[in-house]
Amino acid sequence: MKCEICGEREATYVCSRCRRLVCSQCFNEMNYLCNHCSRYLDTLRQDYVVYLSHVQKLCNELKVRMSTPQCRLCPIALELALTLLKGVRDVKRASEVHRFDDVTKIADTVEKELTTIAMYFLVSRNLRSLRERVE
Ligand SMILES: [Zn+2]
Ligand SMILES: [Zn+2]
Repeated sequence: MKCEICGEREATYVCSRCRRLVCSQCFNEMNYLCNHCSRYLDTLRQDYVVYLSHVQKLCNELKVRMSTPQCRLCPIALELALTLLKGVRDVKRASEVHRFDDVTKIADTVEKELTTIAMYFLVSRNLRSLRERVE
């Protein structure tokens, strides 16, 4: 059986992800993946890291808004925090599946931070509508 990637050498491995039969040259013993899947997962991991650092930047912007009284009640800030929270949870789940442990750890930190931020905006808004009802 020839390698399903290069078609040149004898296949001696099975990729644990795509199940292709590949030769030792087209196989990465470190992660038990063919070169194609290795590259794909590397790109995916990098995408997640880039996304998380983007979210971290937005977190810092949201924190600035938290300390500004007019922005505290901004529905867009709450909306943004909730959207980001969903995105980060998706990335965390996917990282767990792919065993990107370092990415999972970052996602976990960002998730906690975003939860605090979202709660803050939620509470601020609820407090205001409560006050409006009382007054
Ligand atoms: Zn090959
Ligand atoms: Zn593969």
